[in-house]
Amino acid sequence: MHDKEKQALLDSIDKRIARLNIILQTDAGNAVAKNNQEPEQSEKPHAIGEADVEGALLEIARQELAQLKINKEWLKREDGGLCVHCDEYIPLQRLMAVPTTRSCVKCAENENKR
Ligand SMILES: [Zn+2]
Repeated sequence: MHDKEKQALLDSIDKRIARLNIILQTDAGNAVAKNNQEPEQSEKPHAIGEADVEGALLEIARQELAQLKINKEWLKREDGGLCVHCDEYIPLQRLMAVPTTRSCVKCAENENKR
């Protein structure tokens, strides 16, 4: 990976981290209250356990944020961008699309088959 490409990737990870920080700083209760005030939202029936869904989404955001921070440090290292399974370079396009990944498409597919 070229320095320029790596920088572009790190920038895009930074943007994702910033976005997730905003989501996580927004209190879940406030977010729900705000949505409920929107007219188009009020027509939808409110499913039971909406708070649970909200909590689960925040948990996903929290995990993604943690993984992004880990990967950011990893990318700066010597082995940054190398697949943890086969030591091949993970294509930049894949890292851009899935910045939380640590494996190439092939290894990720193999992992899913297991
Ligand atoms: Zn691999």
